[in-house]
Amino acid sequence: MKNVALRAAAFCAVAFAAVLACLMPAAAAQPIRLVVDVSQAPSQNIVRTHETIPVRPGPLTLYYPKWIPGEHQPVGPIVNVADLTIRADGRTIPWRRNPLDMFAFETDVPKGVRSIDVHFTYLGATFGRYSSSRLATPNMLVITWNQNLLYPSTGTIQDTIFAPSIVLPGENWKYATALYDPRRDGNTVTFARTSLEHLVDSPLDSCVNFRQWVLWHGGGTDPGTVTLNACADVPSELDAKPATIDHFKALVREMLAMYGARHWHDYHFLLTLSDVIPGEGVEHHESSDDGEGGNYLIDPKALERGGDLLSHEFNHSWDGKYRMPAGLYPKNLQLPYDDSLLWVYEGMTQYYGDVMSFRDGIRKAKDWPDQIASFWAHYDNEPGRKWRSLGDTATSGPFIYQAPFGYGAERRGEDFYTEAALMWLRADSIIRARSHGTKSLDTFARAFFGQRNTGPIVVTYDRADVIAGLNAVVPYDWAGFFHKWIDDIAIHPPDGFTADGWKLVYTEKPSHWVKKNDFWYSLGFSAVHGSVGDVRFGSPAWKASLGIDTKLVAVDGRAYSDGLLYDALKEAHTSHAPIVLLVEHGNAYRTISIAYGGGPRYPHLQRIPGKPDVLDEVIKPRRKM
Ligand SMILES: [Zn+2]
Repeated sequence: MKNVALRAAAFCAVAFAAVLACLMPAAAAQPIRLVVDVSQAPSQNIVRTHETIPVRPGPLTLYYPKWIPGEHQPVGPIVNVADLTIRADGRTIPWRRNPLDMFAFETDVPKGVRSIDVHFTYLGATFGRYSSSRLATPNMLVITWNQNLLYPSTGTIQDTIFAPSIVLPGENWKYATALYDPRRDGNTVTFARTSLEHLVDSPLDSCVNFRQWVLWHGGGTDPGTVTLNACADVPSELDAKPATIDHFKALVREMLAMYGARHWHDYHFLLTLSDVIPGEGVEHHESSDDGEGGNYLIDPKALERGGDLLSHEFNHSWDGKYRMPAGLYPKNLQLPYDDSLLWVYEGMTQYYGDVMSFRDGIRKAKDWPDQIASFWAHYDNEPGRKWRSLGDTATSGPFIYQAPFGYGAERRGEDFYTEAALMWLRADSIIRARSHGTKSLDTFARAFFGQRNTGPIVVTYDRADVIAGLNAVVPYDWAGFFHKWIDDIAIHPPDGFTADGWKLVYTEKPSHWVKKNDFWYSLGFSAVHGSVGDVRFGSPAWKASLGIDTKLVAVDGRAYSDGLLYDALKEAHTSHAPIVLLVEHGNAYRTISIAYGGGPRYPHLQRIPGKPDVLDEVIKPRRKM
């Protein structure tokens, strides 16, 4: 329980010239009363919203949030809004949707009316790959408030003030959120009034099977806690071993050791463990909406597979939330984003999400070089790099997350995550070399994203600020470096790993990251259970006319299996005979012959004798475990 008045004073006291906003509301503002009733979500997948909005008589436009922070796209799930009713003095007043802005509802407030009541139902139906596919299972629910509110068009995210509350399904339902000052009365929890910005930034998890671990707490003049709050469909999925929780404790220590300051008072990991609702990872200042499968905390393999989820989202509290590209911080939730700096926001977070998963011990150091190999090889074999720059993938953020899977290598996807992470690895290596090992990318991260404890505020930046920040760490042609990596169209990443003491090789041995049933680097296609999802243009499979949406039926006259194809690859390596596949496409069967004698092929990194191992330095914990 926090003292809101004191907290507001503390937040604003740390403001300095570059700070654009203080997330706490002005005390005098008249709030919008918001009641979100989730009592029917576990059984019927709907949520009911009731709002009382202070108004003046005359024309009024209400917005449904369109551009969603952290998702980088205009994916507010407007299609799921139903039963919209607006009442003034107990009488229903008509509304109409703006035909040129479908997220805007227009109405006329009658004379003498000071407030209106707005009701609508949110239909928890699946919508796209993001934003609304997670709502509830019979035992848990996830509320992201932007789905369950309207706000007046005259307001900004800072000066639109809400007094939020939630009606939970039952008294046995626990909850966790970063919202302040919760007061529970039966099934209803009321929170301190807060800005639209802070409300949308503070999702809420509620569930029957709940467990909380304290991962870190400050002390003395530096209070605050970090908690892991887990909701599970099955109680036994909460039986995490202490050693598992120790990894997350190490994560917090490592982050604080690197950044040296924080921008949250308390931080809440909101983790759902479910095989029913999809996984997730959406960042916020003082929490993250994290979703994994039911066995995440109890199966070491599952933990390792998703080993960068919490580290990635936690990193965003510094990189993405505290320091935010100016183009991602418009005054309301209707104005478009400029995603062109996502190679910093997401790319560097991808880098540190992975690096921290080794520093905190979830992943094993021996697996790090081959992870880098798998990333590098992926982009070496992505033909879309011949027509489209890495920067263009970031600029395309508003639609690229929704891209279909077919021909992803020709289209390019969200490469501003992992290809940009390779770029940041290269930048790390340059800083280490030019400073003779006295500095690293961590030095830049601390100076640019750490700075000093501030609470959850936003300080914006642009590309020139990033270049200046790097030059302050070590002078270098950083402008040219980014021009080469971000703006140029390059067939291969322009720099290898020689400086890090490693080189990329392909062998017939599968790796920890590229499994035996991955034929991308040999035949040139990817398939799941024999269904082809992508074919690399120009590859042996492409030349043999294999396309997407094709089912592999038989290999060399026998019913298809990945193992059989692997054997056929080895056989063809010595016989040099073509590999014959029977495939089904649409309602037609045909036989194709792939001329390929190169054998199985998987990427690895190999040490260069006599050169120091820089990669190993990168993932060394900064603090003793
Ligand atoms: Zn991210």
